Parts: sequence; structure tokens; C-alpha cells
Amino acid sequence: MKTQSRSSIGAVLNNNLCVGCGLCAGKFNGKISLGFNKAGFLRPQEVEALTSEENKEFEKFCPGLNIENSLTFENNFQNDPIWGIYSRMCTGYATDSESRQLGSSGGVLTAVSGYLLSSGTVQAVIQVGASASEPLYIESKVSTDTTATVQNAGSRYAPSATLLGLERALEVYDRLAVVAKPCEIAAVRQYQKLYPEKGSKIKYLLSFFCAGVPSMRGTEAAIRSLGGEPSEVQSLRYRGDGWPGYFKFTDKAGNEHKMTYNDSWGRILNQYLQFRCKICPDGTGEQADLVCADAWEESSDGYPDFEQRPGRSLIVTRTKKGDELLDGALAQNAINIEEASFDVSLLKRIQPYQHARKANVIPRVMAMKVLLMKTPSFEWRTLMRASKKATKIENIRNFLGMTKRLLKAPKSA
Ligand SMILES: Cc1cc2nc3c(=O)[nH]c(=O)nc-3n(C[C@H](O)[C@H](O)[C@H](O)COP(=O)(O)OP(=O)(O)OC[C@H]3O[C@@H](n4cnc5c(N)ncnc54)[C@H](O)[C@@H]3O)c2cc1C
Repeated sequence: MKTQSRSSIGAVLNNNLCVGCGLCAGKFNGKISLGFNKAGFLRPQEVEALTSEENKEFEKFCPGLNIENSLTFENNFQNDPIWGIYSRMCTGYATDSESRQLGSSGGVLTAVSGYLLSSGTVQAVIQVGASASEPLYIESKVSTDTTATVQNAGSRYAPSATLLGLERALEVYDRLAVVAKPCEIAAVRQYQKLYPEKGSKIKYLLSFFCAGVPSMRGTEAAIRSLGGEPSEVQSLRYRGDGWPGYFKFTDKAGNEHKMTYNDSWGRILNQYLQFRCKICPDGTGEQADLVCADAWEESSDGYPDFEQRPGRSLIVTRTKKGDELLDGALAQNAINIEEASFDVSLLKRIQPYQHARKANVIPRVMAMKVLLMKTPSFEWRTLMRASKKATKIENIRNFLGMTKRLLKAPKSA
């Protein structure tokens, strides 16, 4: 299998812009396949050249190339340079105790997905979950009942092509919801514009704050640091089963091994992030209807506190539809609200990485431009506002750091 270097996919791969969402492989099934590269990321391969028309479609929906947000928002919504446009910001958790326990933070995305299915609002939810046959790997899933959504609860910090199954699901179902990473949601918005008839079947877009996707090498390193071997893993979770829960796996002999969230994400997995995530202009799901995140408590040193406690999600609505969805889920008693209005000024302290990255996207992208690399298209005006939230020194440091990194390893994933 050979990638055509002059194709649009070739350009995305050569400039390390792929996020591994799988939309292209699902859309151009047969012409594009998806597989792991040497660095352990999911990447498309062009097995048969796309036509020039298909290339143009790809360029519009690929989130490696296009992350423009053309949604129209209501006048009474808030517009924050870092946290995006939003209507409501509150905290809460799933009323169903199993969803809250298994969920990544408060199980709210699982509860809202379950509400959409049980109320008949949608027939299926596109999301990811652990592969039944290969427990180390993550698959794109089509959930049609709440048993499945609960089974797929929890964050998975590894390559996960959520949108691989979207095209196929649109042939089967008329009303769908998608739970996906922010870049994947951006791709779905572009897809809806490009293919309005099929796109209109996608009724709700749910997302979460995302710091980036680590490669499979990260998962393998975490397993090995606990004395295990990836081939010996029978079941694995990255977190959840409590908040934040543990990175834990059971080996084939039935022994459980675990480490804290701080050790797994903070010391191992985040060392393996894909390049595109480091220049991500939208880590907070700015194009989704409803977004969740960890509503961490603040520790005495002013950083997030990862002490184990009952789960709690930050809930952000970004569209009118998101507001209606939150009201519907509340009316059906699917979720409980803890704080009806969350103070946005606290977010910088409990989500420091998100704040720093958004405020430094412009200098990082400028470094790519200086080195004549291709960069995604996005709204510069919004990002210029965000960059003012960092100091000039931080902006310069980010520009120099990215330039140095690219000169040292221009092709690293
Ligand atoms: C790669 C990654 C990075 C993250 N970074 C941050 C961050 O910086 N700050 C923060 O507050 N939160 C982050 N989270 C999200 C956070 O951990 C919770 O998912 C969020 O708080 C929602 O919790 P919940 O309990 O409501 O979701 P749940 O009810 O547990 O539902 C989680 C949903 O996310 C889906 N999902 C899980 N993993 C993936 C994946 N890899 N790709 C696509 N969909 C997935 C599941 O299928 C499920 O539908 C990240 C999650 C991931 C996967």
C-alpha cells in the first residue's frame, strides 16, 4: 500500500496534521484504509487514488486541514477567547449510579446519550469503546441502547477513530448522535455542510475537553511500567470506575494492576501525544452542542486535585440545541445538577493545559509557517484574542520551542 505523495491525504500525512478520526476511511471505503503507523497512531492509507473531486471533498472535511467554525451563535451567549462560545456552564453527574461510577468524570455524556436513545430522539449513538476481541484497542461503535452506552463509558487515551463507522451508520439510521473528540466534531460539522441530506440525520453532537491523543506506545509503556506485557492484557481501562479512577488492567492470569490518573496521564501517556494535538486550536469542543469536562476541585497549591471522589462533570452548552438537550435530560431525571452556574474564571486553574495551549496556538502555528509547513485553516481573529491571554514571553517561548522541535524532528508523529 502506497500513499500518493501529491494527494491531499499525502499532504496531511507529510505535514503531521492527521488526527486519526477515520472519517476519510469510512467515507472513501475501499480507496482509503486505516492502520497503525510505526509511531503507534491510526493513519489513513490511499490504496486507490481519490479522484480530484474526492480530493476536494476530503480537503473540506478533514480536520487536519480545516477546523473553521462557521456556526451561528445566539446573541445572548457568552464568547470567551479561551473557552469559546457558550450558553450555560454548570456541573453535575448521571443519576444512574453505574453511569456515574463507570463514567470518566460524572458520567454525564453517558447519561445524555442514554436519554437520547431511551426517549427515541435518536436511534443510535456513534461513539468509541474497547474492542471485544482485542482489549488493548479502541473501536468506533454504534450504540443503540443504554446497556451499550454504559459499556462504552469512560475516557480512552489512545488512538480511536470515532468517525470510521459514521458513513455506514448513516445508511442504516435516520437519527443519530455523535460523541467524539473536538477535532472529530469539527469534521462532522464540515461533513454536514458538504453532504446536507445525509448530514441532516446527525441530530446532536456531544464532545469533551481534550488535551490530545497519545499513541499506542503510551498505553504499552504504561502497561510495562506496571510489570505487564501488552500481549497479556485481558481488559483495560484508562480511568473511570471512580473519579478520576485508575489506569488499570487485568492480565490473562486474572491479576489486576493499577496506577493513579496522575501517574498514567501525567507522567506517561502525555509524553506520547500526536503532533497535531500540540497545535490544536479547539481542545474544548467549540463546535459541539454540549460538552463535558472534569470539574476538578482545586487543591491548596492552586492546581487540579486528583483525589478520588464521586464523579462530577463540567457541562457546557454551546448551541440552542445543546440547551434543549440539557433541559430534556434534566426533565427526564437523567442527570443531577450540582452547581447551576459555574464560574468561568475558575477554569484556568482546573484546566491549566487547555488555557496555555489555546493561548499559544498562534506562535506554534507561526513556527510551522516559517518552516513552510502546511497548517490547518481556522479563524485567526479568535485565536489572536486567545494569544493575548498569554504573556509575550510565553508566546515567544512557544514559537522558539516549536521551531526547535520541528527542525530537530520534522517528521515525528
Ligand atoms: C484523549 C482525551 C483527552 C482528554 N482531555 C481532557 C482535558 O484536557 N480536560 C478535561 O477536563 N477532560 C479531558 N478528557 C475528557 C474527560 O476525561 C471526560 O471524558 C469528560 O469529563 C466527560 O466525562 P463524562 O463522565 O461525562 O463522560 P462519560 O460518561 O465517561 O463518556 C465518555 C464518552 O467519551 C467517549 N470517548 C472516550 N474516549 C474517547 C476517545 N478517545 N475518542 C472519542 N470518544 C471517546 C466514550 O465513548 C463516551 O461516549 C479527555 C478525554 C480523552 C479521551
